[in-house]
Amino acid sequence: MSEIRFQHVTKIFGRRVEAVKDLSFIIEDGEYVSLIGPSGCGKTTTLRLLAGTILPTKGQIFFNDEPMETVPIQDRNIGFVFQHFAIFPHMTVKENIAYGPTIRGRPRTDIEELVEKALKSVQIEDKADLYPTSLSAPDWQKTALARVLASEAKILLLDEPLGALDQKIREEFQVFLRNLVKKEKLTAIHVTHDQAEALTISDRVAVMNKGRLVQLGTPADLIYNPNHLFASFFVGESDFLEGVVISDTEQEAEVRIGQSIIKVNNMGIERGKRVAVAVRREFFQVEPSSTKKLPNSLPGIVVEDQFLGLLRRVRIKLENQQIIEAKIHAKHPVHFSENEKVRINIDPKITRCFDYPKEGITSALEM
Ligand code: ADP
Ligand code: MG
Repeated sequence: MSEIRFQHVTKIFGRRVEAVKDLSFIIEDGEYVSLIGPSGCGKTTTLRLLAGTILPTKGQIFFNDEPMETVPIQDRNIGFVFQHFAIFPHMTVKENIAYGPTIRGRPRTDIEELVEKALKSVQIEDKADLYPTSLSAPDWQKTALARVLASEAKILLLDEPLGALDQKIREEFQVFLRNLVKKEKLTAIHVTHDQAEALTISDRVAVMNKGRLVQLGTPADLIYNPNHLFASFFVGESDFLEGVVISDTEQEAEVRIGQSIIKVNNMGIERGKRVAVAVRREFFQVEPSSTKKLPNSLPGIVVEDQFLGLLRRVRIKLENQQIIEAKIHAKHPVHFSENEKVRINIDPKITRCFDYPKEGITSALEM
């Protein structure tokens, strides 16, 4: 069992640098959780707090309800894999993997068994007698993982572990890593700057900004139900339509945007309130305004229609002069010309409606 609980954890470096602020969350035993957020938001600090290389300034960390403040790093049952992981260059793969149980003073037969099992688990039995310098990048990371397994750690901390791999190999390794964590019943906390990776590999993803936890949710929650303006901005890409609520029922509300009125998801917003309606750029549907009147749509004028590989980016100016970007699949047959009149259809179910931030959208999204 390795449930992790952060309770109001704050870490201040020096006098003033609040690297993480009032973090509270629970990671369940066997869960795979990724941490994402802009550079400097506190991801590595969170891992270091978990590992015990630094201690909280305020708050407490528990593993299975046991407070960790007096438990040193070597007794926390934790293994690490980083992008430039320090495996010993003068030892073979096998010797590297044996290192953990050896310094713990495990008997020779146990060590051999642990090493064999770990080699098999990460599928590098045939590399056992090689030196690290002759390994490919993925086999290097597999050696690092085997070392964690042989040390019998139950919690795996990963900081940009796949950063050195090419895209294609990286995608394969993501699947390998998730399967390994599940098979070995580890609890994994994985820091990555690659949100596609986080959404692929994890049971839940934690979005952080400026030292705070913004949202901890499943990949589907983050895509369909971001609960915060920043989360819908940072995960994927969204536009924010400014409007005023003119009616509300339990399920839906109507929002006036410029001269138009559209229906949106009601997330507890009230009549008369100024709101920011978040819509994912991939979820806009764009049609020439001549085709038909779409049920829940806004008029606009095309600024540009540009290929982005298998997507197209259509930039559209709305009546209120705001420019939004629709990401439409390249299979969409209609190409739009500059200044063409279009309608942008917005399915109410895919909208998220937030109170308009007093400080303005740009400040609210500051990283
Ligand atoms: P991330 O990994 O998300 O990029 P970090 O956790 O490394 O962010 O850093 C969070 C903040 O804490 C940053 O402002 C960083 O400069 C600061 N910080 C991190 N480590 C130290 C340290 N040892 N001393 C002073 N400031 C630090
Ligand atoms: Mg970092």
